Amino acid sequence: MSTIVIADEMEKEVVSGIGKLGKVIYKPADLGKELADADVLIVRSATKVTADLIAGAKKLKLVARAGVGLDNVDKAACEAKGIKVINTPGASTNAVAELALALMLSMLRNVQKAHHQMKGGRWEKKALAGREIEGKTLGIVGYGRIGASLGKKAHALGMKVIAFNPPPRPPEDGIAAYVDDLARFLSQADIISLHVPAIESTRNMINKENISKMKDGAFIINTSRGEIIDEDALYDAIKSGKVAGAALDVYRSEPYTGKLLELDNVCFTPHLGASTKEAQTRIGSELVAALKSELKG
Ligand code: NAD
Repeated sequence: MSTIVIADEMEKEVVSGIGKLGKVIYKPADLGKELADADVLIVRSATKVTADLIAGAKKLKLVARAGVGLDNVDKAACEAKGIKVINTPGASTNAVAELALALMLSMLRNVQKAHHQMKGGRWEKKALAGREIEGKTLGIVGYGRIGASLGKKAHALGMKVIAFNPPPRPPEDGIAAYVDDLARFLSQADIISLHVPAIESTRNMINKENISKMKDGAFIINTSRGEIIDEDALYDAIKSGKVAGAALDVYRSEPYTGKLLELDNVCFTPHLGASTKEAQTRIGSELVAALKSELKG
């Protein structure tokens, strides 16, 4: 029987589904010690799977990340020890796309500002006049699973959709028009939504130089990874009015406590992209199915 260590918090039903596949050790106090005899390690985003963590894991053959990004897993260190790494790439696509849409509408209609003002006893309609999304150009950076899902929803709401996704890029879907030149792409979008992985070519992509190429008064949404944005440059751009507002779900360091919190025209969520009941159920069933097939062999 396989020993499966679940390092991070997971839904009760998922833990019991995994329990049918082997002996489960759930959220051990001493993870390093339990890994010594484990066959499988399951993480979400809290646990960092480093070379050090797996150094004493003699039997470990599989690391499973319940979620999309593998930023918290040192894949090279795992593979060097013959440990396979798997994830659940499609399970949270719709949840993240819907959050990006919710943030876009909230940001353009000042929902977060209005909410705080009313709770503070203020009724200031004039200052809260918003903007509509219909007819606006949504620029999607990274037209993969989540980007394309958002594109479809935005198109249905009357937006024009453009995408920046250098080759190899996903196939045409009849919705997004690809703009291959980043400067031209940035100059055309009223709202820019980021859906790229954090890799060499995307880290700090939204920096001072690229912000200067955006339309004056553009909006930015980030539900991908914090590293894509230079947060100081975004702060300055919002202060100066170059960027009209931003909506952020992810940050360079989480939990985020930085200076962007001072700004009223930034809408914040604490990395909630995949946090829907539906996505968690899908993540759980994708994970159990993947484990079943991996443990068969
Ligand atoms: P995906 O792999 O399906 O799509 C990413 C796309 O980005 C691909 O089409 C790829 O070609 C493109 N790309 C790569 N480098 C690029 C570059 N330099 N410029 C433009 N495009 C580039 O990934 P996905 O499932 O759509 O996930 C997208 C992002 O969302 C990831 O960063 C993931 O970690 C993040 N995510 C966040 C949450 C959350 O809770 N907020 C949840 C799930 C996923």
